[in-house]
Amino acid sequence: MTQNENLFVALRAAFPADLDATAIETDAGALYTWRDLERATAMLANLLGSLEIPPGSRIAVHVEKSVEALLLYLATLRAGFVYLPLNTAYQQAELAYFIGNAEPAVVVCAGRNFPWISQLAFGQGVAHVFTLNEDRTGTLLDRAAHFPDTHSPAVKAADDLAAILYTSGTTGRSKGAMLSHGNLLSNAQVLKTYWDWQPGDVLIHALPIFHVHGLFVASHGALLNGSKMLWLSKFDPKAVVERLPRATVFMGVPTLYVRLLQEAGLTREACARMRLFISGSAPLLIETFRAWQERTGHTILERYGMSETAMLTSNPCRAGDGERIGGTVGPALPGVGLRVVDDQDAPLPAGEIGHIQVRGPNVFAGYWRMPEKTAEEFTRDAQGQAWFKTGDVGRIDRHGGQDYVTIVGRSKDLIITGGYNVYPAEVEGYLNDLPGVAESAVVGVPHPDFGEGVIAFIVPRAGATLDGEALVATLKAKIAGYKVPKRAFVVAELPRNAMGKVQKNLLRQQQQGLFG
Ligand code: AMP
Repeated sequence: MTQNENLFVALRAAFPADLDATAIETDAGALYTWRDLERATAMLANLLGSLEIPPGSRIAVHVEKSVEALLLYLATLRAGFVYLPLNTAYQQAELAYFIGNAEPAVVVCAGRNFPWISQLAFGQGVAHVFTLNEDRTGTLLDRAAHFPDTHSPAVKAADDLAAILYTSGTTGRSKGAMLSHGNLLSNAQVLKTYWDWQPGDVLIHALPIFHVHGLFVASHGALLNGSKMLWLSKFDPKAVVERLPRATVFMGVPTLYVRLLQEAGLTREACARMRLFISGSAPLLIETFRAWQERTGHTILERYGMSETAMLTSNPCRAGDGERIGGTVGPALPGVGLRVVDDQDAPLPAGEIGHIQVRGPNVFAGYWRMPEKTAEEFTRDAQGQAWFKTGDVGRIDRHGGQDYVTIVGRSKDLIITGGYNVYPAEVEGYLNDLPGVAESAVVGVPHPDFGEGVIAFIVPRAGATLDGEALVATLKAKIAGYKVPKRAFVVAELPRNAMGKVQKNLLRQQQQGLFG
């Protein structure tokens, strides 16, 4: 191998010459210099290396957002292992599945969750369980403190695995999207140019870091530009507004923009130094896009991507690259191939709605230990090129000489609530397991705050009497809160079509106005 294609090496090379400059400033007032990042990731990488786990071992991380969690991600890359972030909202049943499926060598969790997570992990053969808390305590850092603060990054090829992101399956269980060093680095490099990252840019990092948006798009963006991050452990609209005068770039899901618009302090003056507001992960309503323009004088740049592919399309950033068009997710990024096809995978002309398929150096290698699922999600064209089926439905329209993509729906029936993905099939599975439940259907309906609100229709078994709210309460103890239906309707039967499929469109229509 001639060159080390470890993503960490590229990120490290972008650190500014002055390693004593501030790299991250937290909402708790802590400052981390670039030297701190260099040293801490070395110590953590040395600790991971000392465990004598095989190359490619998964490091599963279920902790609250903290700079140390980001350092652990970087250290995992540096040491050549595979990072596996897990949403902290995940509870027992979900974690048991992820640990069983991914077979991590190391699990890192919050100290307060150690009793149940360690029991689960040790029971499934995990050799090492560390703790990491939001306040910089825990056995991970205690142990790392004994290791040297220099470390040579592991040598990696572009297609070596860097991370696994679990995306819930539409039918059945979650799938682990395998992302390589090359997938992530190529995407970060394209975005650095396309979004015109500037010397002196400062990013407000307000997103969770168990997801592609906060972990890759936001963190890689700042790191690859040697840019300072103003770090928020949780999204807080007031804290964001306070930081706007000292920042230049903000990334959020649509829900965050809606919340920010409710802040009186969000003014043109507050945003005067800002260069770029980016939105993604779910559709940005045109009302939000316009309200933002009116209030701040800035046009939100909407982009589109997914765990399996990182970023795929983006509205233009530089004036010379074209117009930012509300309601669209912009043209395909340089290097990304995107087409809209019919049910037989034949490309459709501009303006026609069909399935979105993509290819490019950013597209993942496949689902972890699911070769059949992987094969199902790819299709080959006449030239033998493989295209990934995104599951999104949309169309392409020509505008100013470029092909702008508009997403109109999701063939996979995904619900996006507050920027989080909920797969109806998964929630239905848990509901159907409850006593007295014959079957259920979970759908998303418009919600002013969350974009979509999850609701359920539940059919009781013969002779059973069910209380929808009680079922919801039971579910709360079992699965992540954002997946739990906000309302549950007990019904005698579900509407079905001639093929026996539940007509979810009818259920959605029925409760369209539920949340006003
Ligand atoms: P995830 O893998 O969690 O990032 O979810 C990916 C899915 O989010 C995509 O397949 C889309 O359905 C949706 N998505 C992401 N960005 C956008 C966007 N800008 N507009 C509409 N949907 C989006």
